[in-house]
Amino acid sequence: MPELPEVETVVRTLEHKINNRIIKEVHVLWKNLIEYPDPDSFSVLLRDQQFIGFSRRGKFLLFELTDFIMVAHLRMEGKFYVYSEHTEPVKHTHIVFILDNGELHYNDVRKFGRFDLYRKGEPLKCLASLGYEPFDDRLTGALLKKYCRRKKTPIKTQLLDQSMIAGIGNIYANEICFDVKLNPEHPACFISENKWDEIIQSTRRILAEAIKAGGTTIRSYTSSLGVTGLFQQNLHVHSRNDELCQCGTVIKKVFVNGRGTYFCPRCQKQNALMVAITGKIGSGKSTVTEMFEEAGIPVISCDSVNADLWHQAEVINEIEKITGKRTKKEVSTVIYSDPVTKKKLENYLHDLIWKKIESYYQVNKNEKLVAVEVPLLFETDWYRRFDCNILVTCNDRTVIERLKSTRNMSEENAITVLNNQLSDDAKRDMADVIIENDSTVSKLKESVNRRVNDIINSLPKD
Ligand SMILES: [Zn+2]
Repeated sequence: MPELPEVETVVRTLEHKINNRIIKEVHVLWKNLIEYPDPDSFSVLLRDQQFIGFSRRGKFLLFELTDFIMVAHLRMEGKFYVYSEHTEPVKHTHIVFILDNGELHYNDVRKFGRFDLYRKGEPLKCLASLGYEPFDDRLTGALLKKYCRRKKTPIKTQLLDQSMIAGIGNIYANEICFDVKLNPEHPACFISENKWDEIIQSTRRILAEAIKAGGTTIRSYTSSLGVTGLFQQNLHVHSRNDELCQCGTVIKKVFVNGRGTYFCPRCQKQNALMVAITGKIGSGKSTVTEMFEEAGIPVISCDSVNADLWHQAEVINEIEKITGKRTKKEVSTVIYSDPVTKKKLENYLHDLIWKKIESYYQVNKNEKLVAVEVPLLFETDWYRRFDCNILVTCNDRTVIERLKSTRNMSEENAITVLNNQLSDDAKRDMADVIIENDSTVSKLKESVNRRVNDIINSLPKD
Protein backbone atom coordinates (compact mmCIF):
# COMPACT_ATOMS: atom_id res chain seq x y z
CA MET A 1 0.00 0.00 0.00
CA PRO A 2 1.47 3.35 -0.98
CA GLU A 3 2.24 5.63 1.94
CA LEU A 4 3.16 9.28 2.17
CA PRO A 5 6.64 8.99 0.60
CA GLU A 6 5.33 6.82 -2.25
CA VAL A 7 2.42 9.19 -2.89
CA GLU A 8 4.82 12.13 -2.82
CA THR A 9 6.99 10.30 -5.36
CA VAL A 10 3.99 9.59 -7.61
CA VAL A 11 2.87 13.24 -7.38
CA ARG A 12 6.32 14.56 -8.31
CA THR A 13 6.67 12.09 -11.17
CA LEU A 14 3.23 12.98 -12.56
CA GLU A 15 4.06 16.66 -12.26
CA HIS A 16 7.14 16.04 -14.33
CA LYS A 17 5.21 14.02 -16.94
CA ILE A 18 1.81 15.67 -17.38
CA ASN A 19 2.09 19.26 -16.12
CA ASN A 20 0.25 21.63 -18.50
CA ARG A 21 -1.40 18.74 -20.39
CA ILE A 22 -5.04 19.32 -21.31
CA ILE A 23 -7.69 16.64 -20.76
CA LYS A 24 -9.62 16.00 -23.95
CA GLU A 25 -11.80 13.10 -22.81
CA VAL A 26 -12.28 10.87 -19.76
CA HIS A 27 -13.53 7.28 -19.83
CA VAL A 28 -14.54 5.86 -16.47
CA LEU A 29 -14.61 2.08 -16.93
CA TRP A 30 -15.33 1.24 -13.28
CA LYS A 31 -17.84 3.76 -11.99
CA ASN A 32 -17.51 2.95 -8.28
CA LEU A 33 -14.09 4.59 -8.22
CA ILE A 34 -15.73 8.00 -8.54
CA GLU A 35 -16.89 9.12 -5.14
CA TYR A 36 -17.94 12.68 -5.99
CA PRO A 37 -19.72 13.93 -8.07
CA ASP A 38 -21.39 11.16 -10.15
CA PRO A 39 -19.19 9.36 -12.73
CA ASP A 40 -20.88 10.99 -15.74
CA SER A 41 -20.45 14.54 -14.39
CA PHE A 42 -16.86 13.64 -13.47
CA SER A 43 -16.07 12.92 -17.13
CA VAL A 44 -18.00 15.90 -18.51
CA LEU A 45 -16.53 18.44 -16.06
CA LEU A 46 -12.96 17.34 -16.71
CA ARG A 47 -13.16 17.97 -20.44
CA ASP A 48 -10.76 20.74 -21.58
CA GLN A 49 -9.29 21.14 -18.11
CA GLN A 50 -5.55 21.68 -17.90
CA PHE A 51 -3.26 20.15 -15.23
CA ILE A 52 -1.59 23.14 -13.55
CA GLY A 53 -0.64 22.02 -10.05
CA PHE A 54 0.35 18.83 -8.22
CA SER A 55 0.40 18.34 -4.48
CA ARG A 56 -0.23 15.86 -1.69
CA ARG A 57 -2.22 15.88 1.53
CA GLY A 58 -1.68 12.81 3.74
CA LYS A 59 -1.90 9.92 1.31
CA PHE A 60 -4.16 11.83 -1.11
CA LEU A 61 -2.96 13.18 -4.46
CA LEU A 62 -4.26 16.64 -5.38
CA PHE A 63 -4.38 17.72 -9.01
CA GLU A 64 -5.09 21.36 -9.62
CA LEU A 65 -6.92 21.92 -12.90
CA THR A 66 -8.12 25.10 -14.57
CA ASP A 67 -11.42 25.21 -12.62
CA PHE A 68 -11.29 22.14 -10.39
CA ILE A 69 -9.30 20.20 -7.83
CA MET A 70 -9.22 16.47 -8.50
CA VAL A 71 -8.38 14.40 -5.41
CA ALA A 72 -7.25 10.79 -5.76
CA HIS A 73 -6.51 8.11 -3.17
CA LEU A 74 -4.68 5.02 -4.40
CA ARG A 75 -5.64 2.85 -1.40
CA MET A 76 -4.14 -0.63 -1.73
CA GLU A 77 -3.04 -1.05 -5.33
CA GLY A 78 -3.89 2.06 -7.35
CA LYS A 79 -1.30 3.05 -9.96
CA PHE A 80 -0.98 5.66 -12.68
CA TYR A 81 0.59 5.01 -16.07
CA VAL A 82 1.51 7.73 -18.55
CA TYR A 83 1.69 6.93 -22.26
CA SER A 84 2.90 9.18 -25.04
CA GLU A 85 0.52 7.65 -27.59
CA HIS A 86 -2.83 5.91 -27.72
CA THR A 87 -2.75 2.71 -25.67
CA GLU A 88 -5.51 0.11 -25.26
CA PRO A 89 -6.70 -0.28 -21.67
CA VAL A 90 -5.57 -3.52 -20.02
CA LYS A 91 -7.53 -5.75 -17.64
CA HIS A 92 -7.29 -3.57 -14.53
CA THR A 93 -7.35 -0.15 -16.22
CA HIS A 94 -10.40 1.63 -14.79
CA ILE A 95 -10.03 5.27 -15.86
CA VAL A 96 -8.52 6.60 -19.07
CA PHE A 97 -7.69 10.30 -19.40
CA ILE A 98 -7.12 11.18 -23.07
CA LEU A 99 -4.74 14.16 -23.08
CA ASP A 100 -3.85 16.63 -25.80
CA ASN A 101 -0.59 14.78 -25.98
CA GLY A 102 -0.69 11.17 -24.77
CA GLU A 103 -2.80 9.38 -22.17
CA LEU A 104 -3.00 8.91 -18.40
CA HIS A 105 -4.35 5.53 -17.22
CA TYR A 106 -5.47 4.63 -13.73
CA ASN A 107 -5.01 0.96 -12.95
CA ASP A 108 -6.26 -0.73 -9.78
CA VAL A 109 -6.37 -4.52 -9.25
CA ARG A 110 -8.41 -4.26 -6.04
CA LYS A 111 -10.62 -1.34 -7.18
CA PHE A 112 -10.32 0.33 -3.75
CA GLY A 113 -9.01 3.66 -5.06
CA ARG A 114 -11.21 6.78 -4.94
CA PHE A 115 -11.56 9.96 -7.01
CA ASP A 116 -13.28 13.21 -6.02
CA LEU A 117 -13.68 16.33 -8.13
CA TYR A 118 -14.37 19.70 -6.52
CA ARG A 119 -14.92 23.07 -8.09
CA LYS A 120 -12.20 25.49 -6.85
CA GLY A 121 -13.33 27.19 -3.65
CA GLU A 122 -15.60 24.29 -2.72
CA PRO A 123 -14.54 22.59 0.55
CA LEU A 124 -12.54 19.40 -0.12
CA LYS A 125 -14.86 17.16 1.87
CA CYS A 126 -12.84 13.97 1.46
CA LEU A 127 -9.91 15.63 3.28
CA ALA A 128 -11.97 17.12 6.11
CA SER A 129 -11.04 14.58 8.79
CA LEU A 130 -7.30 14.58 8.10
CA GLY A 131 -4.94 15.61 10.91
CA TYR A 132 -1.69 17.52 10.62
CA GLU A 133 0.88 16.92 7.93
CA PRO A 134 3.99 15.41 9.57
CA PHE A 135 6.03 18.44 8.49
CA ASP A 136 3.55 21.01 9.85
CA ASP A 137 5.19 23.24 12.49
CA ARG A 138 1.98 23.25 14.51
CA LEU A 139 2.46 19.56 15.20
CA THR A 140 4.16 19.43 18.63
CA GLY A 141 4.74 16.98 21.46
CA ALA A 142 2.49 19.06 23.71
CA LEU A 143 -0.35 18.78 21.20
CA LEU A 144 -0.05 15.01 20.76
CA LYS A 145 0.32 14.42 24.50
CA LYS A 146 -3.00 16.15 24.98
CA TYR A 147 -4.62 14.52 21.95
CA CYS A 148 -3.79 11.03 23.26
CA ARG A 149 -4.48 11.66 26.93
CA ARG A 150 -7.47 9.30 27.03
CA LYS A 151 -6.33 6.88 24.31
CA LYS A 152 -5.19 3.47 25.47
CA THR A 153 -4.65 2.57 21.80
CA PRO A 154 -1.26 0.97 21.08
CA ILE A 155 1.17 3.63 19.83
CA LYS A 156 1.67 1.72 16.56
CA THR A 157 -2.10 1.87 15.86
CA GLN A 158 -2.32 5.49 16.99
CA LEU A 159 0.35 6.51 14.48
CA LEU A 160 -1.89 5.10 11.72
CA ASP A 161 -4.77 7.36 12.80
CA GLN A 162 -4.99 9.75 9.84
CA SER A 163 -6.97 12.26 11.88
CA MET A 164 -3.96 12.73 14.19
CA ILE A 165 -1.08 12.80 11.67
CA ALA A 166 -1.92 12.39 7.99
CA GLY A 167 0.20 10.11 5.88
CA ILE A 168 1.79 7.50 8.16
CA GLY A 169 1.01 3.94 7.07
CA ASN A 170 2.01 0.53 8.30
CA ILE A 171 5.62 0.46 7.05
CA TYR A 172 6.59 3.78 8.57
CA ALA A 173 4.62 3.25 11.81
CA ASN A 174 6.73 0.11 12.37
CA GLU A 175 9.94 1.97 11.58
CA ILE A 176 9.07 4.97 13.78
CA CYS A 177 8.35 2.73 16.81
CA PHE A 178 11.70 1.03 16.27
CA ASP A 179 13.51 4.33 15.89
CA VAL A 180 12.19 5.77 19.17
CA LYS A 181 12.55 2.41 20.96
CA LEU A 182 8.89 2.04 21.86
CA ASN A 183 7.11 -1.28 22.11
CA PRO A 184 4.43 -1.06 19.36
CA GLU A 185 1.78 -1.94 21.95
CA HIS A 186 2.78 0.79 24.39
CA PRO A 187 -0.45 2.68 25.20
CA ALA A 188 -0.54 6.09 23.53
CA CYS A 189 -1.88 7.77 26.69
CA PHE A 190 1.28 6.90 28.64
CA ILE A 191 3.93 8.61 26.53
CA SER A 192 5.73 11.70 27.81
CA GLU A 193 5.58 15.01 25.99
CA ASN A 194 9.34 14.78 25.41
CA LYS A 195 8.91 11.33 23.88
CA TRP A 196 6.16 12.67 21.60
CA ASP A 197 8.60 15.35 20.45
CA GLU A 198 11.05 12.57 19.69
CA ILE A 199 8.35 10.66 17.78
CA ILE A 200 7.61 13.75 15.65
CA GLN A 201 11.32 14.30 14.90
CA SER A 202 11.72 10.65 14.03
CA THR A 203 8.62 10.66 11.79
CA ARG A 204 9.92 13.68 9.88
CA ARG A 205 13.40 12.25 9.46
CA ILE A 206 12.21 8.80 8.33
CA LEU A 207 9.63 10.19 5.89
CA ALA A 208 12.08 12.75 4.50
CA GLU A 209 14.66 10.04 3.91
CA ALA A 210 12.04 7.82 2.29
CA ILE A 211 10.89 10.64 0.00
CA LYS A 212 14.50 11.23 -0.97
CA ALA A 213 14.88 7.53 -1.79
CA GLY A 214 11.71 7.64 -3.92
CA GLY A 215 9.65 5.70 -1.40
CA THR A 216 9.67 2.03 -0.58
CA THR A 217 8.98 -0.56 -3.24
CA ILE A 218 7.77 -3.66 -1.53
CA ARG A 219 5.95 -6.69 -2.77
CA SER A 220 2.51 -5.28 -2.11
CA TYR A 221 3.16 -2.03 -3.90
CA THR A 222 5.30 -1.42 -6.92
CA SER A 223 5.24 2.11 -8.16
CA SER A 224 4.29 2.50 -11.78
CA LEU A 225 5.80 5.35 -13.80
CA GLY A 226 9.14 3.60 -13.91
CA VAL A 227 10.12 4.71 -10.42
CA THR A 228 11.71 2.22 -8.06
CA GLY A 229 11.75 3.21 -4.40
CA LEU A 230 14.99 2.47 -2.64
CA PHE A 231 13.90 3.00 0.92
CA GLN A 232 13.41 -0.71 1.59
CA GLN A 233 17.16 -0.85 1.98
CA ASN A 234 16.78 1.41 5.00
CA LEU A 235 14.04 -0.54 6.72
CA HIS A 236 15.16 -1.75 10.14
CA VAL A 237 12.25 -3.97 11.15
CA HIS A 238 9.40 -3.83 8.62
CA SER A 239 8.93 -7.16 6.82
CA ARG A 240 12.18 -8.41 8.38
CA ASN A 241 10.68 -10.97 10.77
CA ASP A 242 13.07 -13.82 11.64
CA GLU A 243 16.02 -11.71 10.50
CA LEU A 244 18.48 -10.24 12.97
CA CYS A 245 18.12 -6.71 14.32
CA GLN A 246 21.33 -4.67 14.39
CA CYS A 247 21.53 -5.60 18.10
CA GLY A 248 21.65 -9.31 17.22
CA THR A 249 18.12 -10.16 18.40
CA VAL A 250 15.60 -11.88 16.12
CA ILE A 251 12.94 -9.47 14.84
CA LYS A 252 9.43 -10.59 15.71
CA LYS A 253 6.19 -10.28 13.80
CA VAL A 254 2.91 -9.88 15.68
CA PHE A 255 -0.49 -8.50 14.78
CA VAL A 256 -1.53 -5.26 16.43
CA ASN A 257 -5.10 -4.29 15.65
CA GLY A 258 -5.00 -6.72 12.73
CA ARG A 259 -1.96 -5.16 11.07
CA GLY A 260 1.40 -6.88 10.60
CA THR A 261 3.73 -5.38 13.18
CA TYR A 262 7.48 -5.94 13.27
CA PHE A 263 9.67 -5.10 16.22
CA CYS A 264 12.84 -5.97 18.07
CA PRO A 265 11.97 -7.47 21.48
CA ARG A 266 15.26 -6.15 22.86
CA CYS A 267 15.53 -2.63 21.40
CA GLN A 268 11.79 -2.09 21.94
CA LYS A 269 11.42 -3.81 25.27
CA GLN A 270 8.61 -2.40 27.40
CA ASN A 271 10.37 -0.56 30.23
CA ALA A 272 8.73 0.79 33.39
CA LEU A 273 6.47 3.80 32.93
CA MET A 274 7.79 6.86 34.70
CA VAL A 275 4.92 8.31 36.67
CA ALA A 276 4.94 11.65 38.49
CA ILE A 277 2.76 12.34 41.51
CA THR A 278 2.10 15.96 42.37
CA GLY A 279 -0.38 18.16 44.18
CA LYS A 280 -0.38 21.31 46.23
CA ILE A 281 0.77 21.40 49.84
CA GLY A 282 -1.63 19.49 52.07
CA SER A 283 -3.29 17.72 49.12
CA GLY A 284 -2.15 14.31 50.32
CA LYS A 285 0.35 13.62 47.52
CA SER A 286 2.78 12.05 50.02
CA THR A 287 0.04 9.76 51.30
CA VAL A 288 -0.73 8.78 47.70
CA THR A 289 2.98 8.16 47.07
CA GLU A 290 3.09 5.89 50.14
CA MET A 291 0.07 4.02 48.81
CA PHE A 292 1.90 3.43 45.53
CA GLU A 293 4.77 2.01 47.54
CA GLU A 294 2.39 -0.26 49.49
CA ALA A 295 1.07 -1.48 46.14
CA GLY A 296 4.59 -2.68 45.32
CA ILE A 297 5.61 0.22 43.05
CA PRO A 298 9.16 1.58 43.46
CA VAL A 299 8.86 5.22 44.57
CA ILE A 300 11.27 8.09 45.03
CA SER A 301 10.56 11.59 46.31
CA CYS A 302 12.23 14.79 45.10
CA ASP A 303 11.98 16.30 48.57
CA SER A 304 13.89 13.46 50.21
CA VAL A 305 16.50 13.39 47.43
CA ASN A 306 16.91 17.13 47.96
CA ALA A 307 17.21 16.67 51.75
CA ASP A 308 19.94 14.05 51.20
CA LEU A 309 21.88 16.43 48.97
CA TRP A 310 22.10 18.93 51.82
CA HIS A 311 24.07 16.34 53.80
CA GLN A 312 26.77 15.90 51.17
CA ALA A 313 29.96 17.91 51.66
CA GLU A 314 30.72 18.39 47.95
CA VAL A 315 27.17 19.61 47.32
CA ILE A 316 27.38 22.09 50.20
CA ASN A 317 30.73 23.36 48.88
CA GLU A 318 29.13 23.96 45.50
CA ILE A 319 26.13 25.67 47.14
CA GLU A 320 28.55 27.96 48.97
CA LYS A 321 30.23 28.83 45.67
CA ILE A 322 26.84 29.83 44.23
CA THR A 323 25.27 31.59 47.24
CA GLY A 324 28.13 32.37 49.64
CA LYS A 325 26.30 30.44 52.39
CA ARG A 326 26.39 26.87 53.72
CA THR A 327 23.19 26.28 55.71
CA LYS A 328 19.68 25.91 54.33
CA LYS A 329 18.43 28.79 56.48
CA GLU A 330 21.16 31.25 55.40
CA VAL A 331 20.83 30.20 51.79
CA SER A 332 17.06 30.77 51.82
CA THR A 333 17.61 34.33 53.13
CA VAL A 334 20.06 35.05 50.29
CA ILE A 335 17.94 33.66 47.47
CA TYR A 336 14.76 35.30 48.80
CA SER A 337 16.02 38.68 47.58
CA ASP A 338 18.26 37.52 44.73
CA PRO A 339 16.39 35.85 41.85
CA VAL A 340 19.53 35.35 39.75
CA THR A 341 21.30 33.38 42.46
CA LYS A 342 18.06 31.55 43.19
CA LYS A 343 17.82 30.42 39.56
CA LYS A 344 21.47 29.33 39.56
CA LEU A 345 21.02 27.31 42.73
CA GLU A 346 17.83 25.73 41.44
CA ASN A 347 19.48 24.74 38.19
CA TYR A 348 22.31 23.12 40.08
CA LEU A 349 20.08 21.23 42.53
CA HIS A 350 17.39 20.25 40.00
CA ASP A 351 20.08 18.74 37.81
CA LEU A 352 21.41 16.63 40.68
CA ILE A 353 17.90 15.56 41.71
CA TRP A 354 17.06 14.53 38.16
CA LYS A 355 20.28 12.50 37.86
CA LYS A 356 19.37 10.69 41.06
CA ILE A 357 15.85 9.98 39.76
CA GLU A 358 17.26 8.69 36.49
CA SER A 359 19.64 6.29 38.18
CA TYR A 360 16.81 5.09 40.42
CA TYR A 361 14.74 4.51 37.30
CA GLN A 362 17.55 2.57 35.61
CA VAL A 363 17.74 0.20 38.57
CA ASN A 364 13.96 -0.35 38.45
CA LYS A 365 13.26 -0.20 34.74
CA ASN A 366 12.17 -3.83 34.57
CA GLU A 367 9.27 -3.07 36.90
CA LYS A 368 5.87 -1.98 35.53
CA LEU A 369 6.04 1.55 36.92
CA VAL A 370 8.37 3.83 38.80
CA ALA A 371 6.63 6.62 40.72
CA VAL A 372 8.28 9.94 41.53
CA GLU A 373 6.81 12.48 43.93
CA VAL A 374 7.45 15.89 42.35
CA PRO A 375 5.97 18.85 44.29
CA LEU A 376 6.76 21.45 41.60
CA LEU A 377 5.94 19.28 38.58
CA PHE A 378 3.90 21.89 36.71
CA GLU A 379 5.78 24.92 38.02
CA THR A 380 8.89 23.57 36.29
CA ASP A 381 9.00 21.85 32.90
CA TRP A 382 9.41 18.45 34.51
CA TYR A 383 5.90 17.39 33.54
CA ARG A 384 7.25 16.97 30.01
CA ARG A 385 9.55 14.19 31.16
CA PHE A 386 6.99 11.79 32.61
CA ASP A 387 4.87 9.18 30.81
CA CYS A 388 2.00 9.91 33.16
CA ASN A 389 1.39 12.92 35.40
CA ILE A 390 -0.87 12.25 38.36
CA LEU A 391 -2.42 15.19 40.17
CA VAL A 392 -3.73 14.74 43.71
CA THR A 393 -6.38 17.35 44.38
CA CYS A 394 -8.26 18.40 47.45
CA ASN A 395 -10.63 21.28 48.14
CA ASP A 396 -9.08 24.34 49.78
CA ARG A 397 -11.13 24.14 52.98
CA THR A 398 -9.88 20.62 53.73
CA VAL A 399 -6.28 21.61 52.91
CA ILE A 400 -6.46 24.58 55.29
CA GLU A 401 -7.80 22.38 58.09
CA ARG A 402 -5.04 19.81 57.40
CA LEU A 403 -2.32 22.48 57.47
CA LYS A 404 -3.71 23.84 60.75
CA SER A 405 -3.82 20.46 62.44
CA THR A 406 -0.73 18.71 61.03
CA ARG A 407 1.65 21.67 60.65
CA ASN A 408 0.35 23.94 63.41
CA MET A 409 -0.32 26.80 60.97
CA SER A 410 -2.71 29.63 61.72
CA GLU A 411 -5.74 29.98 59.43
CA GLU A 412 -4.14 33.08 57.90
CA ASN A 413 -0.78 31.37 57.28
CA ALA A 414 -2.44 28.35 55.77
CA ILE A 415 -4.40 30.55 53.35
CA THR A 416 -1.26 32.48 52.36
CA VAL A 417 0.70 29.27 51.74
CA LEU A 418 -2.15 27.91 49.65
CA ASN A 419 -2.54 31.09 47.59
CA ASN A 420 1.15 31.08 46.75
CA GLN A 421 0.74 27.82 44.85
CA LEU A 422 -0.33 27.27 41.29
CA SER A 423 -4.07 26.58 41.41
CA ASP A 424 -5.49 23.10 40.87
CA ASP A 425 -7.53 24.42 37.96
CA ALA A 426 -4.37 25.31 36.05
CA LYS A 427 -2.86 21.91 36.89
CA ARG A 428 -5.97 19.87 36.08
CA ASP A 429 -5.64 20.83 32.48
CA MET A 430 -2.09 19.45 32.35
CA ALA A 431 -2.59 16.27 34.38
CA ASP A 432 -3.13 12.85 32.80
CA VAL A 433 -4.76 11.30 35.86
CA ILE A 434 -6.53 13.12 38.68
CA ILE A 435 -6.98 11.57 42.10
CA GLU A 436 -9.51 13.40 44.27
CA ASN A 437 -8.66 13.32 47.94
CA ASP A 438 -11.66 14.97 49.59
CA SER A 439 -12.94 11.94 51.40
CA THR A 440 -11.59 9.21 53.70
CA VAL A 441 -8.22 7.45 53.66
CA SER A 442 -9.84 4.14 52.72
CA LYS A 443 -11.64 5.77 49.77
CA LEU A 444 -8.32 7.29 48.72
CA LYS A 445 -6.58 3.94 48.95
CA GLU A 446 -9.31 2.34 46.88
CA SER A 447 -8.96 4.96 44.17
CA VAL A 448 -5.13 4.75 44.18
CA ASN A 449 -5.23 0.96 43.79
CA ARG A 450 -7.75 1.25 41.00
CA ARG A 451 -5.53 3.75 39.15
CA VAL A 452 -2.42 1.61 39.62
CA ASN A 453 -4.22 -1.47 38.26
CA ASP A 454 -5.65 0.55 35.40
CA ILE A 455 -2.21 1.69 34.35
CA ILE A 456 -0.59 -1.75 34.75
CA ASN A 457 -3.41 -3.50 32.85
CA SER A 458 -3.02 -1.13 29.92
CA LEU A 459 0.63 -2.14 29.40
CA PRO A 460 1.62 -4.77 26.83
CA LYS A 461 1.78 -8.27 28.28
CA ASP A 462 5.17 -9.95 28.13
ZN1 LIG B 1 17.36 -4.79 18.43
